[in-house]
Amino acid sequence: MKDIIKYIKDENTFLITSHASPDGDNVGSCLGMLEFLTKIGKEAYYVLDDSFPQNLSFLYENYKIYESEEIKELLKERPYSLIALDCGDIKRLKIEPDLIEGASLICNIDHHKSNNNFGTLNYVVDNASSTSELVYNILCAVDENLIDEKIGIALYTGLVTDTGNFMFESAKDSSLIMAAKLLSKGVDKQKIIRSIYQSNSFDYLKLTAEVMMTLEKEKHFSYMILESSMLKKHSIDYNDTEGLVNHALNIDGVEVGVLFKEQSENVVKVSFRSKGWANVNEIAKAFNGGGHERAAGCTINKPIDQAVYSVLEKLREYMKIHGRSN
Ligand code: 5GP
Ligand code: MN
Ligand code: MN
Repeated sequence: MKDIIKYIKDENTFLITSHASPDGDNVGSCLGMLEFLTKIGKEAYYVLDDSFPQNLSFLYENYKIYESEEIKELLKERPYSLIALDCGDIKRLKIEPDLIEGASLICNIDHHKSNNNFGTLNYVVDNASSTSELVYNILCAVDENLIDEKIGIALYTGLVTDTGNFMFESAKDSSLIMAAKLLSKGVDKQKIIRSIYQSNSFDYLKLTAEVMMTLEKEKHFSYMILESSMLKKHSIDYNDTEGLVNHALNIDGVEVGVLFKEQSENVVKVSFRSKGWANVNEIAKAFNGGGHERAAGCTINKPIDQAVYSVLEKLREYMKIHGRSN
């Protein structure tokens, strides 16, 4: 932590980035950091080559989010360092590789169990609720008085989304204290909740209904399938499907919920969630993925039916090893 604070004080130009398929913690921690660095007079940019979820537009609409090409043009070979937030693996950073290679230093701030300390500086706390909570701790250590409503909205969004609205066990006393402190800075929590959870489009709910029709259950796990044709049919962007997997988990007796998302032909993104004892990070790792004990993912380069088959085999084996055969 001391090294991170010194780094923030000493450096001048920062590129802030995160993982592909941005979620609330990705966007919240990046914008909270961006706003803070700008406030203390630094040159900072949020760079991500991806599309952003509609339900977070209230948060990012007033910011410029750069693409790699634009940043290269803007910096024109000037030195910069890279802050990687909420990303467990350097390969998941969604910016062009030469921007990663060209950084004078990489500062890795994250809470993924699977984080392999890829930075020059690493601040990885795998039981933290969110990267936003880690960023909050860092900003408090630099100067708590500088945390204002704007920074608060960004960090509160990351905290709320990564804890499932304070539902997951990762939400601890420190997370609730952080929430309370941010509310005292003027954060309107109802506005955030309305935007994220209560502003779904009609098409999104129709898509949800179609995905839920695919729901299958074995004794301790259940799964659903999202085919790319369903996204097309309901005009929904792939990156707007973050919350769907939870429906597979919220079933009595089910420990692991899985969603198979067909990203394109022969590319299947698998999302895993668990409730209490199953370590889905371990299951995702078997397919070269990773994440947290209770939320993890991987990408399988196979046709969807073969990907489903492989994962179901693995899940049955996992349940058996843990004495919970079907
Ligand atoms: P989601 O299912 O929401 O995409 O991801 C759940 C968690 O696992 C997130 O924290 C995400 O960063 C992580 N994750 C998802 N896919 C991968 C992957 O392919 N590799 C790694 N290392 N982590 C992943
Ligand atoms: Mn994330
Ligand atoms: Mn996170």
